Amino acid sequence: EGDFIRKITKYVFEIPKEKNMKVDAYIFTDEKGLKEITEAIEQLKNVASLPGIVKAAYGMPDIHWGYGFPIGGVAAFDVEEGIISPGGVGFDINCGVRLLKTPLLYNDVKKHLEKLIQKIYEIVPVGVGSTSKKFNKKDFKNIIEKGVKGAIEIGYGYPEDLECIEDNGHITPASIKDISNKAYERGREELGTLGAGNHFIEIQMIEQIYDKKVANKLGIVENQIIIMIHTGSRGFGHQVATDYIQLMRNSFKNLSIPDKQLIYAPFKSELGQKYFSAMNCAANYAFVNRQIITHYIRIVLSELFNSSAQLIYDVAHNIAKLETHIINNELKKVIIHRKGATRAFGPNRNEIPQKFKQIGQPVIIPGDMGTASYLLVGTDESENIAFSSTAHGAGRLLGRRQAIRQLKLNKILSKLHKSGIIVKSKNKKTIIEEAPEAYKDIDKVIEITNYLSLSKKIARMIPLGVIKG
Ligand code: 5GP
Ligand code: MN
Ligand code: MN
Repeated sequence: EGDFIRKITKYVFEIPKEKNMKVDAYIFTDEKGLKEITEAIEQLKNVASLPGIVKAAYGMPDIHWGYGFPIGGVAAFDVEEGIISPGGVGFDINCGVRLLKTPLLYNDVKKHLEKLIQKIYEIVPVGVGSTSKKFNKKDFKNIIEKGVKGAIEIGYGYPEDLECIEDNGHITPASIKDISNKAYERGREELGTLGAGNHFIEIQMIEQIYDKKVANKLGIVENQIIIMIHTGSRGFGHQVATDYIQLMRNSFKNLSIPDKQLIYAPFKSELGQKYFSAMNCAANYAFVNRQIITHYIRIVLSELFNSSAQLIYDVAHNIAKLETHIINNELKKVIIHRKGATRAFGPNRNEIPQKFKQIGQPVIIPGDMGTASYLLVGTDESENIAFSSTAHGAGRLLGRRQAIRQLKLNKILSKLHKSGIIVKSKNKKTIIEEAPEAYKDIDKVIEITNYLSLSKKIARMIPLGVIKG
């Protein structure tokens, strides 16, 4: 009962509003994909029933189950009547992806690949509980309030990095006053670490370019060596989420919500605003985390190849933001939640820097360590489809425990080895949980994404070596 889903076009499915839903929901997938996401569909319907949601709730092609909100979910709320929800952002606030380009081609590095991976593995703290040098309070405050600019001031990177980062790596309002002591302590010693599990640094090669003109503008060619960094706000963001979920539970005891993981605060309430500020601190932290790791990678490239790396772009894929969107033919300010979803602004958005004005914002969608990843750009059409949003990955097919039960380490490793892919990890279990077989088909996700113009594909990258947390 109540499971009515209507097929609109080849890759668009509609769940018309029913029961408590305030708006319709849409999922961008195919018939096969729809069968894999039963729980996520229920979660998306819950999201569509939250106060102040506008237009519709959206599920990206990589949608799957998450804490409260599905991963691959997009929802925008009215700033007056709407809400902000930690579950709609995720525990890893501003988990995201950064793509670096090197001037090196495959032939320049193929004999040195092992050494390159090893050196990066040695210089970047990796794995559960790994720590960095402790930042002093002044620098730390500067970093979480001013983002990447604060990190560049103390020697991590260059001013020209800024325009290649979403929001220039600096989101406001962000005040250290809204951060607990516990978050502060956890945050200080994990800044500049990769983390565990799904997080990675991957050496890739551009295998194919689909749009030469855009690729030219981005300065990329086939066979070029590219480095992808996937990490977020580490224990800092996790603690911020934990703190505010607890505060919201205490403040709104009688709130009736379909799932207690959907706990929220009215956006304009004091607690809503405090969470917004704390979340922005964690978002700035995550941008800086990727910036510091970039710094380490630059050191290695300089030592090994007398070379360096420039940013192509850096995207957030777990975040809530104040943005203006077209709703009923009018511009409206909303607090948009993208959880496991990527902003994909087309060429006409004001927010994108001069550098990308003609091509749209670069979008980075990782696949898995054995298959491929993609570089895309935002389109103007996607504003009407899903508030200028797109996928963030292939999406999980198997849960972590399921992967452990079904997959064999030896098989995974020998398959990667046969493809010539080098894998380094602190933890064997991670390799099983993160095996290519644990993820959906990235090529399919990109086909849907590209077909619908959620974003437009520019290049396909294949993995050469990966460091897993
Ligand atoms: P999430 O942030 O949801 O954990 O992960 C984002 C996406 O990264 C996943 O949906 C998956 O497609 C991709 N991914 C996970 N591990 C790897 C990896 O080792 N290499 C690449 N290229 N992609 C990965
Ligand atoms: Mn993450
Ligand atoms: Mn992520």
